[in-house]
Amino acid sequence: MADISSMNYLLRRGLARKEISKLLDLPSATIKTWCFRFPDNENTCIHCGAEIAHTPGKKKRIFCSDKCRIIWWRKHPELMQLKMVEKECAHCKETFLSYASSKRKFCSRTCYHKSKHKEAPNDGKKES
Ligand SMILES: [Zn+2]
Ligand SMILES: [Zn+2]
Repeated sequence: MADISSMNYLLRRGLARKEISKLLDLPSATIKTWCFRFPDNENTCIHCGAEIAHTPGKKKRIFCSDKCRIIWWRKHPELMQLKMVEKECAHCKETFLSYASSKRKFCSRTCYHKSKHKEAPNDGKKES
């Protein structure tokens, strides 16, 4: 069954709420409510809630340990079945997760807008 942690997993992998609602077959109103009522803290393990020390400049971790990752995936086989592919953002070259049929080219709205304005990629990685 899709639950809040499966939604949070997809959110942390950079998926838009709209895509998540399609993938998990949940109404977007449910996703919205969950986001609002159970705000995700990306500094904690999605399985056990333990704090995660992120390494600056590295991809953020989702699980505190391999143990949590294995247990969590066992509980969420539905996510394994999703046709998820890693894509490279056409602007910042970061990888992001998307479903195979999606035509998404950018990891975020920011990148989408930046590429439209033909700005050079920002190496300093400043979030505006
Ligand atoms: Zn954990
Ligand atoms: Zn990007």
